[in-house]
Amino acid sequence: MATNAKGFNSKTIHEGFDPADHKGAVSIPIYQSSTFAFPSVDEGAARFAGVSDGPIYTRLGNPTVQALERCVAELEGGCGAIGTATGMGAVTAVLFSHLRAGDHLVGTHPLYGPSRGIVDKYLSRLGVLSTFVPAADHEALAAAIRPETRLVYVESPANPTLDMVDIEAAAIAAHAAGIPLAVDNTFAGPRLQRPIELGADIVLHSMTKSLNGHADVVAGVVVAREPRALAECREVAKTFGLTMDPHQAWLVLRGIRTLGMRVERAQANAMILAEWLETHPEVAWVRYPGLPSHPQYALALKQMKGPGSVISFELKGGVEAGSRLMDEVKLITLAVSLGGVESLIEHPASMTHKGVSVEEQKKQGITPGLVRLAVGCEDVEDIRADLQHAFAQVEAGVLARE
Ligand SMILES: *Cc1c(COP(=O)(O)O)cnc(C)c1O
Repeated sequence: MATNAKGFNSKTIHEGFDPADHKGAVSIPIYQSSTFAFPSVDEGAARFAGVSDGPIYTRLGNPTVQALERCVAELEGGCGAIGTATGMGAVTAVLFSHLRAGDHLVGTHPLYGPSRGIVDKYLSRLGVLSTFVPAADHEALAAAIRPETRLVYVESPANPTLDMVDIEAAAIAAHAAGIPLAVDNTFAGPRLQRPIELGADIVLHSMTKSLNGHADVVAGVVVAREPRALAECREVAKTFGLTMDPHQAWLVLRGIRTLGMRVERAQANAMILAEWLETHPEVAWVRYPGLPSHPQYALALKQMKGPGSVISFELKGGVEAGSRLMDEVKLITLAVSLGGVESLIEHPASMTHKGVSVEEQKKQGITPGLVRLAVGCEDVEDIRADLQHAFAQVEAGVLARE
């Protein structure tokens, strides 16, 4: 499609479909149909043979879903994409298309809890072995690759510690062994990080987060550099029934149209708040890739176009003070998820990372008092005032006990 959209925002706004193919509709119609009529037996056969790309049946492909897939593929610089019903659908498609009994996976930690769960609980049952190394240790990653390793799977920045994987180094290590690198790019998103440009072969997202950005849809996507990997993931997605619904795709495409603006705004807010939190007397430490205090600040500057909008921090009063803070905020919502227009706050040790054993949490740097703040697009002074009010309640609680 000749859109002449070159810049990131132009692409988010124009890529995906040509209005001329849809009676001039500027917003793509929702093709709410489970199945599609073939004009002839020959054409039906051609579609099944993959010779013609017309639609067959929505689990196998749908015009609204395809518009979204084309847009995301363009944003990530891949050859194509597969929309999935959830982010976990994308993770499942990537893992099951690459691994079989006797194969080995190298992954990094921390990893999104259920992603790790697929490996530890389900792939292990099927005879797939795995080794997980710290996200920040690229030498350990290279050293963990064995002759039977078939996939390197990483998440960067990682949730909730915001540790980063050196994607370029991971790609070099994987390619030296002749195997692909898959990157879960949910935290950064394509506005801030394009793993394929850094050497990755597969990129996946929970589009529930910044790509959709409005806390009203769950969805996922897999983008691949090469058609073969894409076809293998698509086969798993279609067969396992992981694919996306057209209404869901339409909502995500609507969200994507403002991705650049939302990400830039939330990130600007997060930068101000991270700097402020770092100087706050109640705060023990702050982890944010935009602060020079982040141990991998140089890597963030190298591989990301910005530090994003998620901040992790811990109060001096530990888990008790952190819980009080999260109970007292009013504008900021106590809820999991991130990347939306609304600011959300949550407690990883008891919520998103509850499935990770206490021992493993400790190893991964998920301290009991860690608070995760996903900054949204509100006016930054309102977010700061909300936190300020909550901090005052924490202090009052401390004083009352003394
Ligand atoms: C949310 C998330 C997922 C899972 O996505 P769902 O849409 O909830 O299925 C996977 N990876 C990361 C990093 C996430 O934040």
